[in-house]
Amino acid sequence: YTSLAEADPEVNKIIEDETWRQFSGLELIASENLTSLAVMEANGSILTNKYSEGLPGARYYGGNEHIDILENLCRDRALKAFNLDPKIWGVNVQPYAGSTANFAAFTALIQPQDRIMGLGLPDGGHLTHGYYTAKKKITASSIYFQSFPYQVDTKTGLIDYDRLETNANLFKPRLVICGASAYPRDWDYARLRAIADAQGAYLMMDMAHISGLVAAAEQNSPFEVCDVVTTTTHKTLRGPRAGLIFFRKDKEADIEARINASVFPACQGGPHNNTIAGIAVALKQAADPAFKAYAKQVRANAAAMAAVLFKHGYRLQTDGTENHLVLWDLRPLGLTGSKVEKICDAAHITLNKNAVAGDKSAQVPGGVRIGASALTSRSMVEKDVEQVAEFLHRVVQISLTTQKEAGSKLLKDFVTAYESGNGEAPKLIAE
Ligand code: PLP
Repeated sequence: YTSLAEADPEVNKIIEDETWRQFSGLELIASENLTSLAVMEANGSILTNKYSEGLPGARYYGGNEHIDILENLCRDRALKAFNLDPKIWGVNVQPYAGSTANFAAFTALIQPQDRIMGLGLPDGGHLTHGYYTAKKKITASSIYFQSFPYQVDTKTGLIDYDRLETNANLFKPRLVICGASAYPRDWDYARLRAIADAQGAYLMMDMAHISGLVAAAEQNSPFEVCDVVTTTTHKTLRGPRAGLIFFRKDKEADIEARINASVFPACQGGPHNNTIAGIAVALKQAADPAFKAYAKQVRANAAAMAAVLFKHGYRLQTDGTENHLVLWDLRPLGLTGSKVEKICDAAHITLNKNAVAGDKSAQVPGGVRIGASALTSRSMVEKDVEQVAEFLHRVVQISLTTQKEAGSKLLKDFVTAYESGNGEAPKLIAE
């Protein structure tokens, strides 16, 4: 075997450049994290060579004696990481991603054209929770199911549970979905359960963003009341890119068979065993006390960044955060999220534009989303991220200046400094 550098210098160079980007810049994308070397080693292992359609002990291919042990280990660790009784909860560890986990869960729980209610995309929900626009059904979750999203209150930014209840009484969903991609607060599971129960509906939590915090008991546990819990494995949980589906076995005798059959063969083919190995490693790490300390620090860091932005007089959705992310409403400044995202990019600060409460469109959003997970994985603590928040303040001040003097010299100089910097951090960061 030759090394990647010898076999394909072009791809090798791209990986080297991306490695430099990830470690020389400041990663604030709330859905990203920096996984461990051990997880990457497992993820890049020889396990990628093996086909293993089916489940441990019941495969469609031979030679799975080691893969069976791996998948069982991963399932055990997944239940342990969330403190779940294997008599009550089961888990499928094969989903390739959060999106496929969600669609497989829908496929198991409800029928085509059944009604679903999830948090709207402009309100912080995820595409796969039933997103569509006035012109088009965008995702499979709105193409194959009838979707009626719920919202956050435009004044407080908090989920409007009263309105959800009223609309659920009218719409009569078969499935209520909670969980979000951009919601800085915890969930009222008892209320959601009551709303779902009144309709005889399933309650599913997609805890993709907060699953690391849930594992560390830094957020309420959705497992108390939900029927199904899905998650990605690569956000606060800090594993490789994939998904998990947890299902409650004590209410419906056939739920395990339905979930498993929905993952394979309904929605997927052979499991990615290298990824399952990476998930198993990440789950072992998540059970370590060091991970609990990490999750606590993630929240403390998000709160510290929020406090600095607050001090500078900016508006934050829900006036702060109790998880890993901050949603910064830029509309009072007359700025768009896209502009701030671009200028941050020039300063090697990576974040993303995001809709804020009351935004009509997710395409031209009025805010940005800031996450603390990756910087915390780089061992940053409050004093470090406070400095990062000061950089963000300066980025916004630059954005405002250029707003007044369109295409001003300031922005041009700033971007030129970055482009000619040969990888050096631009002045804004170096100072
Ligand atoms: N669910 C939520 C809440 C998410 O935020 C995301 C991705 O950001 C997903 C699902 C989809 O995950 P994936 O990109 O792995 O399909």
